Amino acid sequence: MLPKGANLQKVRDGKKTYAVTPHLPGGFIKPDLMRRYADVADKYGGIMKVTSAQRIMITGLKAEDIDKVWEDLDMQPAMGFANCVRSVKICPGIVFCKRGKQDSIKLGMQLDKLYHKKEMPSRLKIGVAGCPNSCAEVHVKDIGLLATENGWDVYVGGSAGSHPRLANQVIENLTEEQALKIVGIIIAYYQKHADIERIGQFIDRIGFDKFKADVLATFYGEVSQETEPKVGQSEAGDIIIPVAGGLTEGTLVFGDKITDDSVISDIIRVYPQTVPVFRSFGMGCLGCPSSTGEPVKQAAEIHGLDLEKLLVALNQVI
Ligand code: SF4
Repeated sequence: MLPKGANLQKVRDGKKTYAVTPHLPGGFIKPDLMRRYADVADKYGGIMKVTSAQRIMITGLKAEDIDKVWEDLDMQPAMGFANCVRSVKICPGIVFCKRGKQDSIKLGMQLDKLYHKKEMPSRLKIGVAGCPNSCAEVHVKDIGLLATENGWDVYVGGSAGSHPRLANQVIENLTEEQALKIVGIIIAYYQKHADIERIGQFIDRIGFDKFKADVLATFYGEVSQETEPKVGQSEAGDIIIPVAGGLTEGTLVFGDKITDDSVISDIIRVYPQTVPVFRSFGMGCLGCPSSTGEPVKQAAEIHGLDLEKLLVALNQVI
């Protein structure tokens, strides 16, 4: 039986050796802990190995020493079980790096505290990078947060390894609080709807447009409740507030063509990429619940727009 908190590393000449990997949030370690680490590795004849998840593994250990190794380390194992949040990779960000745009350590540590080892449909890795250089490999993480001068951009569905996939951007320019909120929504959506599959595989199965529309509908729904937008005006400023809910609600479902009878709130929920098109036609009231409850033909009439041109432009981007 596998010793508790250890991985089988090698079988050589019938002899097995094991590794232990303690949890080191963000890969930060104080000198006194580093000394203890080294002393434990030395005492039990282990080798220390820096891992890609910003941890330090002690490998080459004997099965009978594992319990004593953990006792001497006085740390928690990094690994929970196969399908959980495996790691939150954090770059030094604005605290230690001259290129940092936002506090990746603060955000990353919060995410680590909230989600590390939480059960998921498959393994899930998070990356938090303090600038577009992306030293935390945001674009190949299941959930990635990338800082710019304007805030946090959020990516989903990235993975490396045997099935590499580049992440899709879900939203940009969020505050730290909004970034935490949308990560919670993404994780809840993934937990609720996915089979045993990585987020990228899940997205490829259901389609990124549907995933994004559902996640953003929930996100903007929560934002709108917090900000209590007035009729005729969006308190969230430029933020569009689609009606919360899945794509099975409303008069339009993903894949449908937009017609003169399509309701605007359904259009922007199912096809958020149409927002700039509405705006380019001078319809700046998309955050207003009453105006977005109208069908396109009525809105075109009120705004004095050419309905046919609007429909062509909308259908071109879906
Ligand atoms: S991603 Fe940017 S802020 Fe973070 S370590 Fe790299 S260069 Fe520095």
